[in-house]
Amino acid sequence: MSHYIDVIIPLPLERLFAYRVTAAEADFLQPGMRVAVPFGKSKIYTGIVHHIHQSPPLSYEVKDIELIIDESPTVTREQLKFWKWIASYYVCSVGQVMRAALPKSLLLESETVVIKNTDTEIDESLLDDKQFLIMEALEHRQILKVDEVMDILERKTVLPILHKLLELEYIILQEEVYSTYKPKTVKYIFLAPQFKEETALKNLLEAMTRAPKQRDAVMTLFMLQAGNKLVASKQLQDRAEVSRAVIKTLIEKEILIEEEHAVDRVLEEKASGRDLFELQTAQQRALDEVKEHFSKGKTTLLLGVTSSGKTEIYVRLIQEQLDLGNQILYLLPEIALTTQLIARLKKYFKHQVLVYHSKYNLNERLEVWNHVIQAKEPFVIIGARSALLLPFQNLKLIIIDEEHETSFKQFDPDPRYHARDAAVVLGHMKEAQILLGSATPSLESYYNTTIGKYGLVELKERYGKVLLPEVQMVDLKDKHKRKKMKGHFSDTLIEHMQVAFKNGNQVILFQNRRGYAPILECNTCGNAPQCPNCDVSLTFHQYKKQLRCHYCGYNTFIPEECPACTSTALDTKGFGTQQIEEEFKELFPDKKIARMDLDSTRGKKSIERIIEKVDTGAIDCLVGTQMLTKGLDFRNVSLVGVLSADNMLNFPDFRAHERCFHLLTQVSGRAGRTAERGKVLIQSYNPEHQILQQVSTYDYGTMFKEQLQERYHFKYPPFQRLIRLTFKQRDYNTTLQAGQWFVNALNQIEHGVEVLGPEFPLVARVRNLYQVHVIVKMGKQHHPKTIKDYIRKVKRSFESIKQFRSVRCNVDVDCY
Ligand code: ADP
Ligand code: ZN
Ligand code: ZN
Repeated sequence: MSHYIDVIIPLPLERLFAYRVTAAEADFLQPGMRVAVPFGKSKIYTGIVHHIHQSPPLSYEVKDIELIIDESPTVTREQLKFWKWIASYYVCSVGQVMRAALPKSLLLESETVVIKNTDTEIDESLLDDKQFLIMEALEHRQILKVDEVMDILERKTVLPILHKLLELEYIILQEEVYSTYKPKTVKYIFLAPQFKEETALKNLLEAMTRAPKQRDAVMTLFMLQAGNKLVASKQLQDRAEVSRAVIKTLIEKEILIEEEHAVDRVLEEKASGRDLFELQTAQQRALDEVKEHFSKGKTTLLLGVTSSGKTEIYVRLIQEQLDLGNQILYLLPEIALTTQLIARLKKYFKHQVLVYHSKYNLNERLEVWNHVIQAKEPFVIIGARSALLLPFQNLKLIIIDEEHETSFKQFDPDPRYHARDAAVVLGHMKEAQILLGSATPSLESYYNTTIGKYGLVELKERYGKVLLPEVQMVDLKDKHKRKKMKGHFSDTLIEHMQVAFKNGNQVILFQNRRGYAPILECNTCGNAPQCPNCDVSLTFHQYKKQLRCHYCGYNTFIPEECPACTSTALDTKGFGTQQIEEEFKELFPDKKIARMDLDSTRGKKSIERIIEKVDTGAIDCLVGTQMLTKGLDFRNVSLVGVLSADNMLNFPDFRAHERCFHLLTQVSGRAGRTAERGKVLIQSYNPEHQILQQVSTYDYGTMFKEQLQERYHFKYPPFQRLIRLTFKQRDYNTTLQAGQWFVNALNQIEHGVEVLGPEFPLVARVRNLYQVHVIVKMGKQHHPKTIKDYIRKVKRSFESIKQFRSVRCNVDVDCY
């Protein structure tokens, strides 16, 4: 009898592929193990075994697998089930979910590019002939594709060899070039064995009277080592207040011995623990209510104003699950901005905190993956959306913090999933408790509490009864008319800043735009330089004297004359964070300012550095985009200034008003988090706008009611579901025709499903590709699965039409 396995291949193909295995292999293999399989003419992919069976495929000739990679499953059965749910709900393939989930080093394939790791010294004696050949080839060629390695070795089974070299860290995958893995080491210091004995030590110390620094060092080490504790060299230096040179001398004199040890980075934090705070009455009540909802199996929304102490409640819930030996997932929108939170949790839970994020390098991610699947200890995993795809074992609590954040949604590429929504599904699969937290919940989640689907728990006051900041509107129309503006700063804002600085406080300035000024415009002919690849004006960047495209990264020097009419009267229009920074420097020349936006925070550590500067008081003012709003907890900020609220209000999107409310409320929440009441000034041309009024009175309830009515009226979520199809191609007409063809096909769906479009979005061309949108709107009476299946079917026929071969089509479910 023949044996077969069905394999998930990381490609956008809907079905599984069968391969032949031997009886022994079939016996050994389990679902979730990785195998290398041939695919197409000459490609090799890493696939995941889905199941093992005995029925040969009928429609194609079956091939043998190349090799078995794993000894135990890399992916759990439950994970596979969850991946299938994502693929089905978000209309993509399980292979695409697999690609998003697996750290790249678990996913070697023909196209993977390897390079030599110049950071490790190569010990040739460890290499066998084949490995040697590869290393030699890399000397000459710098980079090799897995394909090419096959050619060099004249064999197909090269993955184990490459895995071995990866393990030795002799090679790395190309995408990690910028974050090469170095095992982190710590130098530990010991007293040489002959001085362990008391009299010997005494004699030594007496002999050192003329070298007091060295004596201090030895004395201190003796004390620190009490009870056989490990002492790091750095620690000794700090505690004895001696220089590295002193330690070195002692090592040379063979009084001290130094040893370097690798630390497992995941477990490195040995921060001293902290006891839990005692909860305040309001917090305790909220915690009890949350547990009450949990006991009824209800997903719960914790609506707590900014700084109400939500995190302390999470901490209690986490502690409870850790004590039970369970895993906890703590999902965050932008992990880059959560150094503060990680530090805080590490104080409580030390090495039981794991961080998983795409900014971490591959080996770090792999370490977390392995810790989670082995589950030797309970952990709380803090992560951005991809953490949801980890191989959880006994996941019993999911916390989704700042649940209203839009960055939980992956917009590109597939799977275009919303991590909050998918987390709720995962939670149900795992029978885990699910807690959503926010000071400004999304309309959808709050709506779910009003219809009894979610439990609701509210925390209405700030911790320590600190008052929420006072919000005041500044009317820009009036200020301009009365000539009370200096640049983009009103006299009111300047005055309040002066007071804040005089009191030794810090100020946050919020401008929802990066760059110096969005565009450069010719005063003579009105022309604004455009991106050659996209339908947008280029953005003016003062700092690098550049014009940049924010869509494709195209950049060029600022022209001296207008490319259209050669006039030199070029002017900047609108304003961004860089310009605010410049103006600030003129207004307050003796104050220090830092900027936080996508341009100033590219490196892995740059955000942390900015946060630290604010924390230590090294800067007086922080200006930034919406990055500022995400959960930062600064102690000394008394004033928040919003330079202009208008562009947020006028954004053409059905969620613009809701988002504006979130953003402004969140950024306001950065003010006055300690004793004194903070102040927020919002500059706007429309100070009477209902959203701004609701922000100023913290009136979430009214905002919710009004926005919900509009959603109902215009048939938007949560009343209707939206699916957006995007078509992209170089040619305008083909793109439009593709969209039209699809609309016609979809219009044959049962009655009542609205199909809108094809329509060009605001920016109709990006990276030289035109795009059109088609929107499918369905009401409660429709069965989404049926309609999605239909969309899949239409898409399959679409892809087989010759004329549309080169048109890319993607499906975005819940595209908001
Ligand atoms: P939120 O997450 O709701 O914005 P946090 O949990 O960050 O609020 O709490 C705000 C501040 O108050 C933090 O600095 C936190 O350490 C402090 N805090 C909250 N609860 C307590 C408590 N029970 N005892 C002492 N300090 C607390
Ligand atoms: Zn011109
Ligand atoms: Zn561009």
